[in-house]
Amino acid sequence: CVADLAELVASHIVDVPDFPKPGILFKDLTPLFADGPVFREVIDGIVAYHGAGSFDVVAGIEARGFVLAAAIAYATGLGVVPVRKAGKLPRETHRASYELEYGEAALEVHTDAFKPGERVLVVDDVLATGGTAATTLDLVERAGGTVAGFTVLLELSFLPGRDRLAPREVHALLTV
Ligand code: AMP
Repeated sequence: CVADLAELVASHIVDVPDFPKPGILFKDLTPLFADGPVFREVIDGIVAYHGAGSFDVVAGIEARGFVLAAAIAYATGLGVVPVRKAGKLPRETHRASYELEYGEAALEVHTDAFKPGERVLVVDDVLATGGTAATTLDLVERAGGTVAGFTVLLELSFLPGRDRLAPREVHALLTV
């Protein structure tokens, strides 16, 4: 059930103070990825929440989103599309820049990544300020996809991520 999944995520996060910068409490989810049965339950939980059949392809946000997207895609027999940091994708891309706490970042997706109207489930590990997710959802739409859902393992509710994405919905397995 949902409470069990939240508990499972909570018990497989390691808090790392002052990484990658002083003042940031980094939520390390690699212990969850490393535990086979837990990882499978989490992936199956995400698929069950959205419903296999409600999306046609899975987009993962570099880099931890790739791990989740690939597993969801495999579990549902679908394909996976990488949304990458600028300069990594080899062909023509859509690019969008966004503000970070310090400076700017940019993400890209191949212009032909989606068929017109294809329903895209977007996944990442952590929702913080929402800049990464908002930029990704815009890119998916610019590339012709339709956002079918956005899922994270962990939402940091003291940051404005969910508000920033409104009216799009956010599904988080655990909100802290
Ligand atoms: P944001 O754009 O602020 O929502 O940041 C989201 C991206 O940065 C995600 O790809 C996360 O993996 C990563 N991230 C941001 N804050 C944290 C944090 N406290 N712990 C772990 N990852 C984070």
